[in-house]
Amino acid sequence: MKFKNQHRMLVSFGAYFLVVCPNCSGKAKVISLGAPSPYITGITRRFFCSECGSHKEFVPRKNCYNEAVIRYSKNWEEGYINIGGPFDWFFGYSLYLQIPCCGQTLWAYNLEHLEYVESYVAAELREDHPYYLSVESRLPAWMKSAKNRHDVLKAIGKLKIKESGLIKS
Ligand SMILES: [Zn+2]
Repeated sequence: MKFKNQHRMLVSFGAYFLVVCPNCSGKAKVISLGAPSPYITGITRRFFCSECGSHKEFVPRKNCYNEAVIRYSKNWEEGYINIGGPFDWFFGYSLYLQIPCCGQTLWAYNLEHLEYVESYVAAELREDHPYYLSVESRLPAWMKSAKNRHDVLKAIGKLKIKESGLIKS
């Protein structure tokens, strides 16, 4: 099976996020009440937990050019839209879909994102030269390594079961 580059960027998977509720540790969601793109300003983002009823809204602030203030980092920082770590972009809550794997942490925003990563990792052949900002080009080396393929796919399988709600952990 060959993985065909789809040039999908991480930002294209941010339609919604499954997060750990900071109140009850249940499975909660962060959604957009408008366009999902973080670049579009003035859109309310909502956190809600159907397990305990917690909810919160947030409208990202803009800079003086009327642009969203976005930061790409593995660490969360208050006051920004933070893209690139194991948390949602707007509230900084821990992603629900994350699991230790090969001494690292494997994470995904939602099922669509997880399945995209899975299709990449599972492929034995990959096209050369993925677009440098695409998800496939930015996956860490440990996830792309053939020797870790089995463990990575196993971890993804566990996250899919967790996402489906069949097992709670
Ligand atoms: Zn909750």
